[in-house]
Amino acid sequence: MDGTGDSVDMLRPDGHAASLIDVASDRLWDRGWRGIVLDLDNTCCAYHQPELADGVAAWVATARDRGFRIVMVSNNFSERVAAAGAQLGVATVPNALKPLPFGFLRALRLLGTPRRATVVIGDQVFTDVLGGKLLGLRTVLTEPLVAHDFPLTRVLRFLERLVYKRTPPVPGLPIFRGED
Ligand SMILES: [Mg+2]
Repeated sequence: MDGTGDSVDMLRPDGHAASLIDVASDRLWDRGWRGIVLDLDNTCCAYHQPELADGVAAWVATARDRGFRIVMVSNNFSERVAAAGAQLGVATVPNALKPLPFGFLRALRLLGTPRRATVVIGDQVFTDVLGGKLLGLRTVLTEPLVAHDFPLTRVLRFLERLVYKRTPPVPGLPIFRGED
């Protein structure tokens, strides 16, 4: 795909990282971004795992210390999302129906940050990237923590492969094209 055209741009993240903990939050801050919308499944937790992945709690604590406002927005059910949010000390929006705008709009109200200064970080093109782009938010795509997914997510990943060619990033490499 050549990356031209509005419809393709709606599916193209601003940045791409191997995982959440590979996203250098100081780079986000340097761009003037102040709000973070975090995905849960396969971004902070592996599929069907109750525990946060290694390093996620520390990453969130560092970002918050830097001054970021952070909200978790998930299509998963309330109890699972609330438990993860409580562990991280962040507000949550469960049952968000991403990429529809309602959950993201609620997150923006909780964050109080402008759309262009708010970044969605998640592992799916059709929920996290498209949903963020539809509202004019910034987006960073991560690789899924594990290859297992919900049945609906498996369908979305099939569609994703048709329209978006992922080049898996190397851990530790820059998340934005053209950066050092
Ligand atoms: Mg996800």
